[in-house]
Amino acid sequence: MTVVAIDGPAGAGKSTVARAVADELGFTYLDTGAMYRGIALAAAERRVAPATIASTLKIEPGERILVDGRDVSDEIRTPEVSEAASRAAADPEVRRAVVEQQRRLIAAGDWVAEGRDIGTVVAPDAEVKVFLTADPEERARRRAVELGLDPARVLAEQTIRDERDRTREHSPLEPAAGAVVLDSTHMSLREVVARIAELVPGTRG
Ligand code: C5P
Repeated sequence: MTVVAIDGPAGAGKSTVARAVADELGFTYLDTGAMYRGIALAAAERRVAPATIASTLKIEPGERILVDGRDVSDEIRTPEVSEAASRAAADPEVRRAVVEQQRRLIAAGDWVAEGRDIGTVVAPDAEVKVFLTADPEERARRRAVELGLDPARVLAEQTIRDERDRTREHSPLEPAAGAVVLDSTHMSLREVVARIAELVPGTRG
């Protein structure tokens, strides 16, 4: 069993990179942010606090993201859900429930798990830990292109969420002990993927 943990701020390219690394190594990709997003979406729809449903909601974070069997892969990517997920993720009760599910998932098999607290909390014993970052403007530009949004708006909203992730009391965003810090501002996707793959023991890299 091997776990590659990739943490970092929004828009650093974690999803794209983690997916590509998983493909390259034949590991399974886990998008942990999608789980916070799924809870935030369901809570908003039901008009309840995320903590009240976090431990009972069935979230399946696979190729498509299922919440209680419903495919919400697209709905969870809106700016509204981004904001709600960032708020929900600051609640320790929500985090406890989500982290427990994530640990159960990655207990068997080989994983590339991507998020904010994988190397620090979810899988501190991960074989490989990467903290992937990039300049805020570049991160906002990439997200704006990907989602077809205004870069200035993305940057403004991203700054608020980054700040919340970094300063929250529970599991704040920070590089894990032993993490390799990679700044992707001036790196291509291929370069980043190759750098991470060569860190994984027993692979050709
Ligand atoms: O990565 P993504 O933007 O989809 O994550 C949505 C939100 O979930 C983030 O803003 C962050 O606050 C939270 N999150 C977290 N821990 C993780 C993954 C995501 O707190 N492991």
